[in-house]
Amino acid sequence: MTEPGSASALMERLAAMRKIDAHTHVLTADAETLDGLGKTLERQALRWLDICWYDSDGSLPKQVAAARAARGRLPGRVDWLTAFSLDGFDRADWAEKAIAEVEAGRAAGALGVKVWKNIGMELRDPEGRPARHGGASSAPQGAWVMIDDPRFDPVLDRIEKLDMTLTAHIGEPRNCWLPLDRMTVAGDREYFSEHPQYHGLLHPEMPGYQAQIDARDRMQARHPGLRVVGCHFASLEWDVAEIAARLDRFPRLAVDTAARICHLQIQNRELVRGFLLRYQDRILYGTDAIMMQGTVRTDTGISSLEAAYEADLRWLGTDETVEAPVVGPGFQSRGLGLPFPVMERLFRENARSWYPGLA
Ligand SMILES: [Zn+2]
Repeated sequence: MTEPGSASALMERLAAMRKIDAHTHVLTADAETLDGLGKTLERQALRWLDICWYDSDGSLPKQVAAARAARGRLPGRVDWLTAFSLDGFDRADWAEKAIAEVEAGRAAGALGVKVWKNIGMELRDPEGRPARHGGASSAPQGAWVMIDDPRFDPVLDRIEKLDMTLTAHIGEPRNCWLPLDRMTVAGDREYFSEHPQYHGLLHPEMPGYQAQIDARDRMQARHPGLRVVGCHFASLEWDVAEIAARLDRFPRLAVDTAARICHLQIQNRELVRGFLLRYQDRILYGTDAIMMQGTVRTDTGISSLEAAYEADLRWLGTDETVEAPVVGPGFQSRGLGLPFPVMERLFRENARSWYPGLA
């Protein structure tokens, strides 16, 4: 028997607390995989918010199909967000098509719409626009398209009108623009060595870190009524004061923690704790876990999904020391011991307020 008030009693209480992981990706409709996921979610008292995104690899329709299959197979356990295509972005009928995709998603139960870092880091107008974008793009490329481009306005307006949330992964961690050996966490070193196409430092022609952040800020200033969840601490993970400044400036902005808890673990513990307490209604817990056929991947450096959840609950909800291999081998961090009601906000209530319709 565990003593009431002991760390293990607290961990039991946290494990039993109903939780929402507000940032996940289900990339398979495989029934057996989904059933396995359903069992894990039940054991962990968890629901998943599955986020689709547009990638130029053409995977969006498959992601949407997987999301709808997951929601159908695991009712009450999985909700989802849709996305719109950027194919033909520079054509006159692009916005109309994007709006139709958003509306189709809404009709199929999507609670929000994701925009991804390819806006700002990949999408470019053709040289001497207006001409075509997309397709076989050996043509010379022109200006970079940022998220505050007025061509997005009609789509963002519609998202707001439909009472959907814009989930914005714009930019990358600041580490993206640093040399590998100066990046602050091992996880980023690993990601950018595997994905050199997104390593900003290697692409001086690409708009830099601050340009990405500024474009997102300008977009939000122009759409003050739009509810936005900035993924990955709105790419301001390196300093809680930077996140706080945006949350103060934009009352309709919240942020998720997906795959960036490690960046809090390397900042001053008291500052981080104070930040989470002060903005306890603006931060959504998420992991960025990716469910593929028969296998799940997390960005924590911890192999099992359940162990990854346990480590986050322990670090946020108790003052015990946890291992954080994603920061570096052997790295340890003392937990924040946030009060239980704050844990309930981070792990459930905020997702429900920022994604209306999430039961
Ligand atoms: Zn993600």
